[in-house]
Amino acid sequence: MLGQTKAAVSFVLVAFLLMMEDMPHANASSKLPDPINADVAEELFRLDCGHSLANDKSVWTPGENVGRRIEFSSTCWLIKHRSEWLLWDAGVPEAALNDPRGWSTLPKLIVYHLDKSITDQLAEIGLRTSDITRVALSHTHGDHIGNVLLFPNSTVLMQRAEYTWISSPDGTNDNVNQLKALARKLLGTPRHLQLLDGDTDVFGDGSVTLVSTPGHTPGHQSLLVHLMNSGFIILSGDVVHLEENFEKSAVPTLNTDKATSIASMDRIRRMMATYKAKLFINHDKAQTGTLKLLPAFYD
Ligand SMILES: [Zn+2]
Repeated sequence: MLGQTKAAVSFVLVAFLLMMEDMPHANASSKLPDPINADVAEELFRLDCGHSLANDKSVWTPGENVGRRIEFSSTCWLIKHRSEWLLWDAGVPEAALNDPRGWSTLPKLIVYHLDKSITDQLAEIGLRTSDITRVALSHTHGDHIGNVLLFPNSTVLMQRAEYTWISSPDGTNDNVNQLKALARKLLGTPRHLQLLDGDTDVFGDGSVTLVSTPGHTPGHQSLLVHLMNSGFIILSGDVVHLEENFEKSAVPTLNTDKATSIASMDRIRRMMATYKAKLFINHDKAQTGTLKLLPAFYD
């Protein structure tokens, strides 16, 4: 009887802790902002960081669309916070600019093209690469870190789990080995590297929060941004590639962990409810086409 009571108490406790997981201020160690009192960043700009054509959509929608072509957008985001600028993801390498042959992370599957450089887009709003104080990376796939080397003086923010993963010995999956080798090359050795362990409040005021969403890669993260007029916006990284995948919790075959990928999508859904947040999906070309593009911005 006592055992049963104990078990019941433990069950209630675990259920309570699970329920509180995404509730800000549930405990002092929560890094997620308070939806009511979070401060705001001033401006959020979308940069065109490339687009790509893949020859088999079923890699992203397992069991469906075998052999069908699909086009993806690649998006970077720039956030103004007081005197600082933070770049979220660094896109397809500028070396691919206007090259009709394109550039690839996995040549048998996908080819990327770049029509505009990050440097030129920053110049459109009067910025130089040296004005970007922080570069935060959702993960280390080449189409997200292609231009990190343009920002040698910026602090590079990424999850420690991601850094450890790309530095780990090769496994049996050749695609994954190729992606890791490319990641090491594109990342180089950042002078100011800040390795993160889970959720991180970047400016300490709840305006810009890195949110741990592993599964696509071991140290994948998304970004929660709070703006005065637009409210909360979640920038996906590759926690999901397409709106249709988000609706079905479909997990691409290239992801490193299926169950964790689904848990991360669930976490994003709960956060969308908590913060009444919009989700901007990096690679969803149809959605991206509806979003503002630099020099326009969200505020
Ligand atoms: Zn990716």
